[in-house]
Amino acid sequence: MRSVLSQGRAAVYEEPIGPAGVRLREVPRTEPAPGTVTIAIRASSINHLDLFLAQGLQRDVKPPRVIAADGAGVVEASTTARWKPGDEVVVYPVVCDWECEWCRAGENVRCPHFGVIGEHSDGTACELLHVDERNVFPKPQALSWTEAAAFPLTFLTAWRMLTTRARLRPGEKVLVVGASAGVAVAAIRIARHLGARVFATSRSEDKRKKAVEIGAEAAFDSADFSKAVREATGGGVDVVFEHVGPATMQESMRSLVMGGRIVTCGSTSGPKAEIMMPRLFWGQMDLLGSTMGNASEFQAVLEAIDDGLRPVVDSVHPLGEVQAALQRLDAAEQFGKVVLSV
Ligand SMILES: [Zn+2]
Repeated sequence: MRSVLSQGRAAVYEEPIGPAGVRLREVPRTEPAPGTVTIAIRASSINHLDLFLAQGLQRDVKPPRVIAADGAGVVEASTTARWKPGDEVVVYPVVCDWECEWCRAGENVRCPHFGVIGEHSDGTACELLHVDERNVFPKPQALSWTEAAAFPLTFLTAWRMLTTRARLRPGEKVLVVGASAGVAVAAIRIARHLGARVFATSRSEDKRKKAVEIGAEAAFDSADFSKAVREATGGGVDVVFEHVGPATMQESMRSLVMGGRIVTCGSTSGPKAEIMMPRLFWGQMDLLGSTMGNASEFQAVLEAIDDGLRPVVDSVHPLGEVQAALQRLDAAEQFGKVVLSV
């Protein structure tokens, strides 16, 4: 397994004290290992994972660790024939061994070494990234550097949830809860791209407006949203896109039609949720879990971007202001992705 290495100026998680525990450091440069590509990162973006890491909530990850999963940049050096200096690329944000039975079958998500870049390895918030050539994909030409760093992890995750897992079909209704999170914004954009009707919830009136601006048909306050959803949709939605967990699970289930599907990739309001079992079985519901996605699903996202799918950038901060970028996530001020320019 080839390791991911961050070098040069980098944002390093050093202490579990929140955003202030992530500091800019100079990481020594080394020669790239065979099979790896050296990317001069132009932009990187942060996720809630990075905030959890900085807060010390990912207990299995010990500092120091260079943060961030999402990165786009220019190939500076390559040990393989597949890539050459000057190529513009994005990084598939997954750690895996590429060699096991599952990886060889295209099921990277089932790899025993599966993880996320910037958590289970060094991350993209740096000047130079050494990464396995199989993690490198061409940057979509239509995207700016900022946009190219804004889509990988959230769009990969939301794409797998809505397509492979929930099998969303054109014309179906989907409810995206907690609509300002990066993954939820990705879900709104992807569901619309796939021809679904999209509804959303958020606590903030401003964010409800923004959810409608980027493609939701209507957006509802987070408090007891199921009644409003059932009224607006004539009985409920076919799919609920979940990532909040205990705070919304009951209402999410109440928002579904008979035979509906809940698909979830996270539980930001806590690890344990209560489920009304009769609602699950009487409602013929599917409860689906999902994490990130396969390389083939990343390729499908790239093709959808060529077809017009676009990420949503909240704000851009220089790498040196990574603490302010993390604070923006901590204060839940963002709508879409917080990007670091390198
Ligand atoms: Zn594997």
